[in-house]
Amino acid sequence: MTAVLANDFRAQWDDIGDDVLAAVRRVGESGWYVLGEEVAAFERDLAGFHGTSYAVGVASGLDAIEIGLRAAGIGPGAVVVTTPLTAFATALAVMRAGAALRFVDVDDEGLIDLDAVEDLAAQTSIDAVLPVHLYGHPVNHQRLITAADAVGAVVLEDVAQAIGGRSDGQPHGSNTLGAATSFYPTKNLGALGDGGALLTNDAALAARARQLRDYGQVAKYEHAIPGLNSRLDELHAGVLRTAMLPRLEQALRRRREIADRYLNTIDHQAIRVPALPVEDSSWHLFPVFVEGGARDALKAWLAEADVQTAVHYPILASAQQALPQPEDPLQYPVAHRLATSELSLPIHPYLSDDAIDQVVSAVNAWRP
Ligand SMILES: *Cc1c(COP(=O)(O)O)cnc(C)c1O
Repeated sequence: MTAVLANDFRAQWDDIGDDVLAAVRRVGESGWYVLGEEVAAFERDLAGFHGTSYAVGVASGLDAIEIGLRAAGIGPGAVVVTTPLTAFATALAVMRAGAALRFVDVDDEGLIDLDAVEDLAAQTSIDAVLPVHLYGHPVNHQRLITAADAVGAVVLEDVAQAIGGRSDGQPHGSNTLGAATSFYPTKNLGALGDGGALLTNDAALAARARQLRDYGQVAKYEHAIPGLNSRLDELHAGVLRTAMLPRLEQALRRRREIADRYLNTIDHQAIRVPALPVEDSSWHLFPVFVEGGARDALKAWLAEADVQTAVHYPILASAQQALPQPEDPLQYPVAHRLATSELSLPIHPYLSDDAIDQVVSAVNAWRP
């Protein structure tokens, strides 16, 4: 029995190393390291892969959300509604944009409850909705747009876990303001470091995002708005474009294959698996849910069987001390139940068939 890792960056390097070194050499030899040809070429290829007209490379997923909101004029005085079951970066980006945060509960799969967004509009006016395609599962576009229109809000989508994802065949971010993604190394399209991008069909939004990422410059040394330094560098863009992006389609296919195996072979009374068609999700994570307080026991059991797992997320974003007003986790009962019952099984693209079998055998053999 060998260790089954949550992510296998050594196996990844064996696969990509030569292509990464070629990209590094290309950028080095170009003599141009920030906002040049590589970033422009990667942005074109990424937009083409994802299915939006524009991609704007920035320094992180956190920045991509902040910049997307600010480019849309969402800042001080605005109210943004999001989900408590997400990476804290989602909420932090709203705080950094200067807008007020409101949370609503999630459904059983962990996705924002859009009925709750409509209910909230009876108490407070809402300027933007920030849904998260959590685990790679798609928030339904039609329902999203209906809810946002009903409350008079714009929508920016967090696709950090769902690059290339679609709902009813439409790319995320193509029917809304846009979508923000992350190239954090564990993400489906990861860099060898940090990075992010805003994906949109809106030329004006993309142009404002380009200003915001570069100190708010509208022309050289001319600053019209207070921006950030959030530039994607040429090295990361080069690596992403010629080492990572060409492997993404195949990696997403492998993630779906693994999810399919898990969905068809995990068979345990105490363990709930996601209930959606396997082809719908990008499967950034494979969450299982163990209710009744036994999640940590399953995690320990799998650790004994040399299977690494993780929890997404143990503390709700709405309960974090960094917020102006941290809320009681019980305020969002479904999100709270998922935060205490979720366990993520390994699903990276370098997982072997034997490793999948090892995970499934260990899960099915668990006696709570
Ligand atoms: C990773 C992640 C982010 C933040 O991305 P960074 O590049 O780490 O800043 C935001 N939202 C979600 C859902 C994420 O998974």
